[in-house]
Amino acid sequence: MTKWPRDNQADLIAFYGTPGPDVERQLVNVVPPFRMTYEGAPIKAIRFHRKAAAALEAALREIWDHYGHDQKRIDALGISKYAGTYNPRKVRGSATKWSNHAFGAAIDLNAAENGFGAGHGTMPQPVIDAFKRQGARWGGDYRGRTDPMHFEFCDATGYPGVARPVALVDAPQVDGDGDQGGDDSTDFSAQRKPTFLKRALQWLGAGGSLSFLGYLTSWQVVAILCGFSLIVSGLIVWFFGAANVRAWVARQVS
Ligand SMILES: [Zn+2]
Repeated sequence: MTKWPRDNQADLIAFYGTPGPDVERQLVNVVPPFRMTYEGAPIKAIRFHRKAAAALEAALREIWDHYGHDQKRIDALGISKYAGTYNPRKVRGSATKWSNHAFGAAIDLNAAENGFGAGHGTMPQPVIDAFKRQGARWGGDYRGRTDPMHFEFCDATGYPGVARPVALVDAPQVDGDGDQGGDDSTDFSAQRKPTFLKRALQWLGAGGSLSFLGYLTSWQVVAILCGFSLIVSGLIVWFFGAANVRAWVARQVS
């Protein structure tokens, strides 16, 4: 299995090339083993980066095999609803960071039921496992706002791996109740999310990268800042005593 580049601009560009003509030159056709549609219209092939094309094809083939080459079942699960791969655009809310779609190494499936922040959406577990078996990272595993339609071929170290062997799973895990958190069994959700301590250590290990901010919406950033100032003011009052703080404030305004 290919070792995928880590999810930062330098490593992605070194592996896939610079988004634009350099990446476009390297796109090849992947013919899906089952019928797929884009906005209702049938597609013949998926344009994908040559370095990740075999992995995409293997994942689609595993999905096709898992569902017994049953096109109706694939359609009913929404897996045949292709929603885009190559797109030379920046990450939402960023002026500089390229989306992994800009490298031709990410694919969206069944966008209608698996939008931003839709928890784990309705993405069936065997589909998720098929991509993870190729080393891909699933957007449904993002911390903060999830992107369950999205699979990308970049290093997934630190993200949940294949939870269960595909062969043992009969029915897809469909989270159809529309809630945000999903209805995972406890042991499974425990595997999904590393403990806070572990994530903090990983973050420190990664040199304290601030890339996690990209997963936060602006109101979440505001909420964190407000919470932080509240804690700081609380600590000041606790440390100096309310009367002293009031006296200090009075001195400043007089
Ligand atoms: Zn995507």
